Amino acid sequence: MAATILDGAKIATAIRAEVAAQVKALTAAGIRPGLAVVLVGHNPASEIYVRGKVRSSEEVGIYGEQHTPADTATTAQLLNLIGDLNRRDEIDGILVQLPLPSHVDSKKVLMAVDPAKDVDGFHPMNVGFLSTQRPGLVPCTPAGVMEILKRSHIPITGCEAVVVGRSDIVGKPVAMLLINANATVTVCHSKTHDLPGVCRRADILVAAIGRAGMITRDFVKPGAVVIDVGINRVTDRAEFERLFRGNAKREETFRTKGSVLVGDVHPDVVEVAGAITPVPGGVGPLTIAMLMSNTVRAAKLRRGVPTPQVR
Ligand code: NDP
Repeated sequence: MAATILDGAKIATAIRAEVAAQVKALTAAGIRPGLAVVLVGHNPASEIYVRGKVRSSEEVGIYGEQHTPADTATTAQLLNLIGDLNRRDEIDGILVQLPLPSHVDSKKVLMAVDPAKDVDGFHPMNVGFLSTQRPGLVPCTPAGVMEILKRSHIPITGCEAVVVGRSDIVGKPVAMLLINANATVTVCHSKTHDLPGVCRRADILVAAIGRAGMITRDFVKPGAVVIDVGINRVTDRAEFERLFRGNAKREETFRTKGSVLVGDVHPDVVEVAGAITPVPGGVGPLTIAMLMSNTVRAAKLRRGVPTPQVR
């Protein structure tokens, strides 16, 4: 039997509606959450992401502003900008869109963001809060993965979870959140021996690798829940055939657009898994929804308004 499709777009819509209601209540109490997005230079992909973030902020009633220093901006200039945003009380969240130009010291810039306004959850202080289960800000994509599991009523306590990928942005925080939710967690990476064998132990398998369709059906225990974080653009015909042979809808997209999106999980896995997130429309939509949620959370935490504790 084919897997249940975990509809991330639907879950993200529900979260955005909840966030909008919270923003309305806060605004009525004189606290309008504010988000500042910093976009340096003209990276076309980044410009699309930032536009989506600012538009979503406005939709849920968050005050949003965009800062667009030129790509010649120096580390010192960006540190000044971050310093200004840190000092402004009406700004609750600061997001620095990555990547920054190569001449900029990215780590220094990210470290300068006030941890209380770090809505990406990348600051070491928030990483520490997550690992010690204290109130803080959790990275958006990993938080979105947990929302999908919880809102789809997938049991986590006591289950075997395997996370493939150990990045600071996705793999490690997902693993930490799963540990905090009482799963037994294994984290895999490019040096893991017998990756298919380790993955087959998983009741919950999270793929955050960045390799198109790498997780094939022989990696998946029948009935497992598969969360596909990967977003990869396929432009090569042979690669397309490996992934989507016989899929008329994707064939049409590939022919008209010259590319299709695929996750890190091979589409055939739908025949083995018990439940699976699609790409697109799975984890992706949750990332922006959780940014909105984090901005409201930051506004509340900064002002001592009670917030539900660590996801
Ligand atoms: P990184 O490149 O930072 O990390 C990839 C991880 O995968 C590394 O830990 C790496 O291992 C591991 N890896 C690479 N190749 C293999 C392999 N052959 N076998 C086992 N492990 C391997 O990527 P990110 O974590 O930033 O992103 C992962 C994916 O998620 C990407 O496709 C990205 O586009 C997507 N993404 C999606 C988001 C969304 O909103 N849905 C948001 C963020 C990311 P090692 O550490 O040993 O190098």
